[in-house]
Order: sequence, then C-alpha cells, then structure tokens
Amino acid sequence: MAIGDELVGGFTLDTNSHWLAERLRLLGFPVKRITAIRDRPQEIVDQVRRELVDDEVTMVFCSGGLGPTPDDRTFSALADALGRELTVWEETRARIERRVQRMHEAGLLDSPEVTEGNLRMARIPAGPAYVFKNRRGMAPGVVYEANGKRIFVLPGVPLEMKGIFTEELEPQFLSEGSAATVRELRFTFAVEARFYPLMKELEQSFPDVSVGSYPNFETKELVIRCLGADPKRVDDVIEIVRRRSAQLGMAVAKPAASA
Ligand code: ATP
Ligand code: MG
Repeated sequence: MAIGDELVGGFTLDTNSHWLAERLRLLGFPVKRITAIRDRPQEIVDQVRRELVDDEVTMVFCSGGLGPTPDDRTFSALADALGRELTVWEETRARIERRVQRMHEAGLLDSPEVTEGNLRMARIPAGPAYVFKNRRGMAPGVVYEANGKRIFVLPGVPLEMKGIFTEELEPQFLSEGSAATVRELRFTFAVEARFYPLMKELEQSFPDVSVGSYPNFETKELVIRCLGADPKRVDDVIEIVRRRSAQLGMAVAKPAASA
C-alpha cells in the first residue's frame, strides 16, 4: 500500500512498491496486490480494512505519509482503522530529540527545540508489536498485529524505507520464507499469439507453475517466464516451451536465465 497524493497524481513514480515486491518475492513472500492511494484519512482507513479482511493476506506493507507536515496522515488513519489511540512513543521521541540536537549542532537547524511537526512522527497508534529505529531519518517504522496479520508501516522516503527493510525488518520478520524458482526463455521476433495454445495446455497440465508472456517492443524480445515452488516442475515447463517453440521455428535469444 503506497500512500501519497504525489504517487496517484502522477508526479512521483511508486518505486517503493516495485522494490518491495521484488524483495518479498525473493524472500519467499509473493505479493498479492499493490495499491497506491491518496493521503486522505478515510481512503487509508478503507484500504487498511480491506486488507485486514482478506483471508489470503498475511502481511500488509504501507509506505509514506509519516512525515512532519500536516499532509502526512498515515498514523492517525491507521489508529482509526485499528481502533486504537495515538500515543507518543517515548523511544522514538527521544531519538528525534537527539537527531534534532545533532542537526542543530551541525548548523542544519536554527533551533535545538523539537517542533510540533517533528513530534508528530513519534505519535503512533498504541500497542505496536515492534518499533524500528530508522537510522536514516526521523520517522520510525512500526509493526502492528491485527486479525492474525502483520501490518508494517514504513516511511515513504525510498532510502529510509529500504534501510529499515533490509537492516531491521527482514532479519527479524522475513527469514523463514523460501523463494519460488524463476526461469525465463527469451525469443527474438517471436509472435506472442503463437504461444497461446501451448500456454493454455500448460495451464492445465502444470497448474502449480505460472507461465507468463511479456513482449518488449523496444528490444523486440519476447520473454516467457515460468515461476513455481518446485524447481523440477519449472524446469519441465521450460523444456516443453523450448522444444515446442523450436518446432514452431522460433529462436531462443539467450540461454535460460535463472533467479
Ligand atoms: P519522512 O518521515 O521521512 O518524511 P514520509 O513517510 O513522510 O517520510 P512522505 O512524506 O510521504 O514520506 O514522502 C517522502 C518522500 O518520499 C517524497 O519525496 C515522496 O514523493 C517520496 N515517496 C513517498 N512514497 C514513495 C513511493 N511509494 N515511491 C517512491 N517515492 C516515494
Ligand atoms: Mg507524503
């Protein structure tokens, strides 16, 4: 869940979701959906509630809207959605105080006083399961537990979001997954439609392997990508695609890549 008017308004590309989706896939926690929503409290509340009632969802990742300005509203909306009070998280407040002090000493801030804006970032919904530090900024990252799911709330600044994720969140919460196997075949000047019968057939005989076709009109390459939990099954599908495409006279551009 990427939160920010600038994302939905077409000013800023939502790179956080893309980055998270890749990391999560590689860690063995494939993403079900990506949403981008505005900084509107009711829209944030609605989206959080929607995720909380989805039985397939075990974790929700939110980024953005934790900042010091009034247009950042994620924490208060989340408090509403979870039915909790906002409370000042003492450890975060103390970190913000020290950070403001250091920035003042470095001549980056006129005053060593913590402003109301700064303090907003320490005011989080009560009862977090865990609070991350964030070494790169003032806003904390926070985890809540509700409806048997974990909700991770992260800052929008990509560097901060990635820092918390890789240094703090991943080791603690995402170490138990096992990644799906991905194999690709690349064809040059292949006609996508010619794969249709084969893909229909594979859908039936290998329901545990997802097969996608992704044409790139700039490179004139067609990527057939197979993904599944069992490497042997994925390899079997790749072999069938390789053999059948050769019969159809289509050339593989590069050896199969793996990830
Ligand atoms: P901070 O507390 O550090 O200010 P924040 O949670 O308040 O973080 P925002 O104020 O919402 O974050 O956004 C900070 C910056 O990060 C903005 O420049 C914003 O455009 C950018 N940003 C926010 N969300 C995304 C995203 N999903 N993808 C890429 N950039 C993003
Ligand atoms: Mg914002």
